[in-house]
Amino acid sequence: MKKNEIIEVTCEYLGTDGKGLCKYNKCTVFVPFLLKGERAKVIITDVKGSNIYANIKEILEKSENRCSERCSSYYRCGSCNLRHLSYDEELKFKQNNVYLAYKNEGIKVKVEPVVKMDDPSNYRYKVIASFGLKKNEIVYGLYEEGTHNIIGNNDCPIQSHELNEVLKSIKKIMIKLHMVPFNEYNNRGSLRHILLRMGRKTNEIMVVFVTVSEMFHGRNELVKELIKIHPNIKTVVQNINPRRTSVVLGDKERVLYGDGYIFDDLLGIKFKISPKSFFQVNPIQTEILYQEALNCAELSKNDIVLDAYCGTGTISLAVSKKAKMVYGVEIVKDAISDAISNAKENNIRNAFFKCDDAKKYMQTFNKKIDCLIVDPPRKGCDKEFINAVLKLEPKKIVYVSCDPFTQARDVKLLMGKYNVRLVKPVDMFPRTVHVETVVLLEKKG
Ligand code: SAH
Repeated sequence: MKKNEIIEVTCEYLGTDGKGLCKYNKCTVFVPFLLKGERAKVIITDVKGSNIYANIKEILEKSENRCSERCSSYYRCGSCNLRHLSYDEELKFKQNNVYLAYKNEGIKVKVEPVVKMDDPSNYRYKVIASFGLKKNEIVYGLYEEGTHNIIGNNDCPIQSHELNEVLKSIKKIMIKLHMVPFNEYNNRGSLRHILLRMGRKTNEIMVVFVTVSEMFHGRNELVKELIKIHPNIKTVVQNINPRRTSVVLGDKERVLYGDGYIFDDLLGIKFKISPKSFFQVNPIQTEILYQEALNCAELSKNDIVLDAYCGTGTISLAVSKKAKMVYGVEIVKDAISDAISNAKENNIRNAFFKCDDAKKYMQTFNKKIDCLIVDPPRKGCDKEFINAVLKLEPKKIVYVSCDPFTQARDVKLLMGKYNVRLVKPVDMFPRTVHVETVVLLEKKG
């Protein structure tokens, strides 16, 4: 088998990354966008040992679960990967992925059905779009994977409708004012990216123009016209990022309009969002996720809660109403300052936040913990953190994670002292393979 050869394959199942997996002679063929049961002619793009990588040339037998992707950029964009699969099947796929992650660690658990979104579209309330020129026309959107080629997509179906409209307005005004995006070949223009955030409950919008230098000709006119069209834009910030890395935001900021931040509300608590704050992108499901975590915790007024990897304190503050005291620990300084000011803003006096490494904090924590909440990044918890948990022996652990594989690995380490009571995935990122899972562990005996 070699590159460009065409072969016929049948998809046996989907890998955890959503790609179709097929057998061919003694090799495994990986085919993006091919569904279980489908037969197709595929063209080989790469061969590595017994792994063959191929793209669909023609589908010969279609699955009944195939649906219209409803996005003109889907096959190039890479931000969604399951738009061609019906939403019901996507949910089953995610539930099974969580099951496999635990099985992989030798843990037999019942995985609850994934908590779905009623309408799995236009859920992103945070948008990042790169701006550039293509054939003398302004284009914006994401970069095609591994390139600097912008995929122009004016109506991304997972981004909030209103934020799509704001992007369209920005392009229109730029054309009217003869403004051009930054062009790395002739160094004209200044605008590279736009970051938008919107509060779902408050409707407040934040616009961040990311430019290569302080110079940004036409910015005042641009801002004036933009807020005329979208009066719920409450703040506009210019962020300066001269570096050519994949990190979108630079260090320097200049507020062009408003206060430099907006607010949103989650479970009745007000949160301040500034350009660099971590705040979940899907506010609809975030409330559901936190509610699930709260239900698991079953807190009473005398309970001491520790929220490890607490970010800007979203879970800690949601929990604080039901507990005696909440301790939040997080490694990023800015996030902790946000958490402290969010607590003040909401008159919450029983939440204490500390900027520290979660494992160090756990190792020196000297109070009895009734409920430990953990929500670590993708790589999961450190082993030393888990060891400290096993020493402190909280009665309950609520483990929230965006990666079921690292979560299962960590849960396994806790199982000597804990029983798994509930494994419940929540769909925070419909149409992609990502899944968030809430797990409840209870101390044995
Ligand atoms: N619970 C929050 C944030 C979860 S994201 C929310 O739902 O909004 C995971 C957080 O873990 C990030 O804010 C990250 O900065 C933090 N983090 C990563 N490594 C850490 C460590 N070693 N100690 C403490 N916090 C850490």
